[in-house]
Amino acid sequence: MDNKYTVGIARCESYERGEVSAAAELAVARAGGLPETPSEAALIKTNMLSPAPPDCAVTTHPEVLRSLSLALINMGKSVKIADNPGYIFTNAEKLCEVTGVTAIARSIGGVEAGLLSARGARTVRKDSFVSLKEARIWSDYLDAGYVINAAKLKTHVETEISSCVKNIFGTADTDTRKRAHSSTSETLLAEAIVDLFTIRPPEFNVLDAIISMEGDGPSHGKPRHTGWILAGRNALSIDWAAATIMCYDDPLKIPLIKAAVKRNIGPRDISEIDLVGADWSDLPSRGFKKSSSAMRILPTFIRGFAHRFVSLTPRLIEKQCVKCGICARVCPVDAIKCDPASYPKIDASLCVKCLCCHEMCPAGAMTAHKNFIASIASRMRGE
Ligand code: SF4
Ligand code: SF4
Repeated sequence: MDNKYTVGIARCESYERGEVSAAAELAVARAGGLPETPSEAALIKTNMLSPAPPDCAVTTHPEVLRSLSLALINMGKSVKIADNPGYIFTNAEKLCEVTGVTAIARSIGGVEAGLLSARGARTVRKDSFVSLKEARIWSDYLDAGYVINAAKLKTHVETEISSCVKNIFGTADTDTRKRAHSSTSETLLAEAIVDLFTIRPPEFNVLDAIISMEGDGPSHGKPRHTGWILAGRNALSIDWAAATIMCYDDPLKIPLIKAAVKRNIGPRDISEIDLVGADWSDLPSRGFKKSSSAMRILPTFIRGFAHRFVSLTPRLIEKQCVKCGICARVCPVDAIKCDPASYPKIDASLCVKCLCCHEMCPAGAMTAHKNFIASIASRMRGE
């Protein structure tokens, strides 16, 4: 068990408490166990993207968080479960309540739940940054002595995959995330995510792939049973396995994985990964619906250039819109105007097609619309 790229994996068919607990314990043990550190306090960086109930598959399931919390408490550590959700969800109480985290924290006792932003953010600059000039990272994350990255396996209309490396995006403050999203190239967004990941890689990673999200994630896709829980010290190793579950024949075609490999934050190929508990051929979840990202059909080297031509654009379905104005608040380039009396209006000349408005619309009214070339690309893929 001395391979630094060991991934422990275990089958888990449901979120029934006993089953999750046994599967999580097995996956962690197969990964070599939770590392020992002198720190008495542990942070579980979960995925609480929005106040969505656990069965929507938007957030890391509370039963997975419960298992990890108990394991950490058994190691003598205090535990905080936290995230910095999508820009506009600042009501920590509601977020933790709806996602089921509060109930878990209460049932265990001694577990704190909340936002990562409680103590503000600090500026970080690194010579190795490729996309960002600087980043503002929440102090609770920067200062944590021990971090478990507890991610949810989801599709993502911009990055294609949301797994362990992507989950660290939530450690940056709103302005940093908006700057990362305002890039006109998805390659630079992937590089920005890797920039953020390199600031403070977590000590351990767990992926909730029991019920994953397929289709147009990370908010508006559909729950899909995939039946795995994964664990390991290296986040990228788990992402390779996650992409395989999502039926990618070549995960290197995903810009985020390609950028992470280029930056040496983990294995360059599955041959470097020691998968314990299953064979690679067991992983693909047949028929898994990938995100609509039209870029998948293109060779990776021209994706940055082609982004503006082959893309998804936000389109409003008025009858579903509740005029809440959230889309205007999350838009990183102020391309949406919205007042309480009217439907939001998108200025196409400003829009950088980041789809944050689609991701955060609570009513599913802002759709990800394929332009002409993207539709042809989708048809060629048989979607
Ligand atoms: S499109 Fe969605 S986020 Fe925007 S105002 Fe309508 S309901 Fe709110
Ligand atoms: S309008 Fe939507 S897709 Fe366009 S830049 Fe704003 S948030 Fe991104």
